Amino acid sequence: MIRLEVLGAHTQLLSTLCAKCPQGPAGCCKAPPEMDWSDVGRVIAGGGRDFVLARIAKKELIPTKRGLELRRVKRREAPTHPMERKCVFHGPGGCTIDAAMRPATCNYFLCEDTFIEGGERKGERSAVLARQAHGALRAVFERWDAEFSERIAARWPEGPAWDAAFLDWLGEVFVELEEASGTALSALPVPA
Ligand code: SF4
Ligand code: SF4
Repeated sequence: MIRLEVLGAHTQLLSTLCAKCPQGPAGCCKAPPEMDWSDVGRVIAGGGRDFVLARIAKKELIPTKRGLELRRVKRREAPTHPMERKCVFHGPGGCTIDAAMRPATCNYFLCEDTFIEGGERKGERSAVLARQAHGALRAVFERWDAEFSERIAARWPEGPAWDAAFLDWLGEVFVELEEASGTALSALPVPA
């Protein structure tokens, strides 16, 4: 079963299948998404500047040309669990960081198995709406990432310094883009 928590750029799509993921205990956290520019901006706008600076210092978040990479670590969380290579933020009970501190993809991505389990093919409304929300969010975040890339290249042609001032700027631009998003976010499907 799929549940939607529609909160604009902070929307979460949740599936009961994730608790018994066919991919193993770490589920899709074995392949964490990148924290792209717009994701970093979203985290900073949500009060996460110190979080990001601290995690960069600990090398859990690694600067790249498109934002930050979430480090992968190899470990098992219980003697009965397999050794897995997975996101550094994945723990025994799932993700250990607040939803506001994750890449947005972590919050709105669902695999194909969840849509099957959620009854999309039978027209189950929550699954159909989740598919629409997933597509709309992906499109808007991709558009924002392109906008961020352009502005960063123009302002820091040699690449930005990953300091507090740069992070604050990312947060400010994210707020600007979010406010200008119009129907891209306000028209996200909401379950009745
Ligand atoms: S979205 Fe799919 S792969 Fe990811 S944890 Fe849920 S069931 Fe597993
Ligand atoms: S941030 Fe959390 S939800 Fe995202 S990949 Fe890492 S452990 Fe999974």
